[in-house]
Amino acid sequence: MVEIELLPVMSDNYVCLLFDPATGTSGVVDPGAAEPVLARLSDLGRGLDWILLTHHHADHTGGVPVLRRETGARVAYSRGDTGRIPGIDGGTDVALGEGDRLGFGEAVFHVLETPGHTRGHVSFWLSGEDAVFCGDTLFALGCGRLFEGTPEQMWRSLSKLAALPPATRVYCGHEYTESNARFALAVDPDNPELRRRAEEIRALRGRGEPTIPTTVDLELRTNPFLRVNDPAIRRHLGMEDADEVAVFAELRARKDRF
Ligand code: ZN
Ligand code: FE
Repeated sequence: MVEIELLPVMSDNYVCLLFDPATGTSGVVDPGAAEPVLARLSDLGRGLDWILLTHHHADHTGGVPVLRRETGARVAYSRGDTGRIPGIDGGTDVALGEGDRLGFGEAVFHVLETPGHTRGHVSFWLSGEDAVFCGDTLFALGCGRLFEGTPEQMWRSLSKLAALPPATRVYCGHEYTESNARFALAVDPDNPELRRRAEEIRALRGRGEPTIPTTVDLELRTNPFLRVNDPAIRRHLGMEDADEVAVFAELRARKDRF
């Protein structure tokens, strides 16, 4: 089993450290900063073989140049981000797209293209391990802002993640859950499971603990951005007969103003 450790960096970013004990393979997902990663690797007595990047934003890639230089790790990134990430070396790093696979020790990452937040955004699914790293696409109780993509693209990307096995653990790029919960309750106020979850989230954050990972199953039952076909949410929006993308676009626009 690949061991996964969350490393909070900067104000609300999560970096994930990965380790395959069978082979000693070590990796990191979305290192927005190098120093905390190097410090933790040194505590653990580990090197670094792979840097996986979901998208080009600096809060997910800022640590790449120093980490490459200090550890010699190779970078796996989206083909759609070619030329947009400082510190990439075309000779040793690998550009990936939909359907590509990346061996990680005894495990395999499957690449899913999940555009919408950015046009080149990808997610990495560890199929045998029930875990997905989805950057700023799907958040706990929310989803990423549409900086470079259309509502239709984002809806398709979220649907792809929602179709993974229900037990899949979802590792997203930010701790935004508490404010996402406030919006979710505003549009889906009578969802008992959401209300219960919002309480748990408040308690976790009150103790300074992460709300990540979440699971596909939990998001399907409580995340309004995956629940665009829910009759109560549609009624709340006055969009009973609208198509899925229109409901999604309305939710995203309301969240932007919330
Ligand atoms: Zn981003
Ligand atoms: Fe981000």
